[in-house]
Amino acid sequence: MKEVLYSSTRDNSKKVQASKAILKGLSEDGGLFVPDSIPELDKTLKELAEMNYQEIAYEVMKLFLTDFTEEELKDCISRAYDSKFDTEEIAPLVWADGAYYLELFHGATIAFKDMALSILPHLMITSAKKNNVKEQIVILTATSGDTGKAALAGFADVEGTKIIVFYPKNGVSPIQEKQMVTQKGKNTAVIGIHGNFDDAQTGVKQIFSDKELEKELREQGYIFSSANSINIGRLVPQIVYYVYAYAKLLGEEKISEGEKINVVVPTGNFGNILAAFYAKNMGLPIAKLICASNENKVLYDFFKTGNYNRNREFVLTSSPSMDILISSNLERLIYRIAGNDAVKNAELMSALSGGGSYQISDEMKAQLTDFYGNYASEEETSDRIKELYDNTGYVIDTHTAVASSVYEKYKKDTHDETKTVIASTASPFKFTRSVMNAIDKKYDSMPDFELVDELSKIGNVEVPMAIEEIRTAPVLHNIVCDKSEMKKTVKDILGSSMED
Ligand SMILES: *Cc1c(COP(=O)(O)O)cnc(C)c1O
Repeated sequence: MKEVLYSSTRDNSKKVQASKAILKGLSEDGGLFVPDSIPELDKTLKELAEMNYQEIAYEVMKLFLTDFTEEELKDCISRAYDSKFDTEEIAPLVWADGAYYLELFHGATIAFKDMALSILPHLMITSAKKNNVKEQIVILTATSGDTGKAALAGFADVEGTKIIVFYPKNGVSPIQEKQMVTQKGKNTAVIGIHGNFDDAQTGVKQIFSDKELEKELREQGYIFSSANSINIGRLVPQIVYYVYAYAKLLGEEKISEGEKINVVVPTGNFGNILAAFYAKNMGLPIAKLICASNENKVLYDFFKTGNYNRNREFVLTSSPSMDILISSNLERLIYRIAGNDAVKNAELMSALSGGGSYQISDEMKAQLTDFYGNYASEEETSDRIKELYDNTGYVIDTHTAVASSVYEKYKKDTHDETKTVIASTASPFKFTRSVMNAIDKKYDSMPDFELVDELSKIGNVEVPMAIEEIRTAPVLHNIVCDKSEMKKTVKDILGSSMED
């Protein structure tokens, strides 16, 4: 098998093995690790169609994580994709109203982040062993709501690690917040910040590139890593479910071998859709990558004009996990369409952090034809939830509804009849209030957990364990800090309150 090495999008003179890239998370120069080539699938689609989720996970991940042994990788996979998921299929496909919904929310925290964050701790611990790391790994994470809980659940009580999560105090759903602040585990910390997700993400990136702090903490026996989607250890497991979805459709004879499908992804930080792009580049027959945004439509504007501009009002929407103006993973695509030119990419990224915008060249823009971007307003999102429910009885969450609504626009725009998979990124139970209000305004006055039971009734689905658990769980985390105090808060936490 061809060895795949990783280099930074801002300086590709140095290359590291996958396990080193996973341990570091973000490169020292602020860039993201990218594979030096995208490997091709070495099994036929027919062969993949015979496999289960865990087997496909191995076939995909072995091609990227080439310094992991077969035993190591299979061990990580079997620990991750087990009974934490409430279905053996791991990621079931549901047909509704003209599209296949790929349900990525059957893991412990009922959002698609579980797909990668249930394996990341195992990849990280394995990487630490392989590299003789003696320090405790401190996972620092900024969350727009779902990553935080999924990372907490993944790393809680994992030996040799601590996890600190920052979330925007007023920018997540009540259930998302309750899920996080009730997290158990001696090695966990959860902090609300006065600021939005971009502030949290920027703060975490600054802590990562703070050399002095790094030295100070290393002396205390700590090193930092990241559970955000900038970590290659999250991106690679996300490629798996696109291959799995295709294999399932082929196995069930819904498509013929080699037939192209479209993929629609509700997008925030651009991690999930980038994974689909990598899957396509591995040889998976994907036609269009449809990038769906909510009212924070930076990406829609970017695909239309080639201009990325974050200088705009940050809108708090009913799909908070997509309320993002700086889509970190887009950098990996920019690097690629710049011809793997790290200098050019670094220039654009410095324009982004300086003036808040950059413009790509016509040559670069010409390489974006695989992508179609559009967005859904708050009203369109809620209308789509109701429409789909009225037509089919199927209830989707607000993020998935953004994707579904954009897919309807895409069909109107293009008359493209290609079979399509919509990434369904969260359980409707995670955003119960918005979902139920979309279906009928009469639910507005009902308390949160009554709404949960009502959703269970009208949608004819059991209340997920993740929700049952937090009904009565005590709040264990209550730190709130200003966005300017994140570094100090991290030092305080590592210096005292957590036990070793
Ligand atoms: C994180 C998240 C998204 C956005 O995914 P990205 O990889 O950041 O683009 C969409 N929907 C839900 C429910 C999420 O949790």
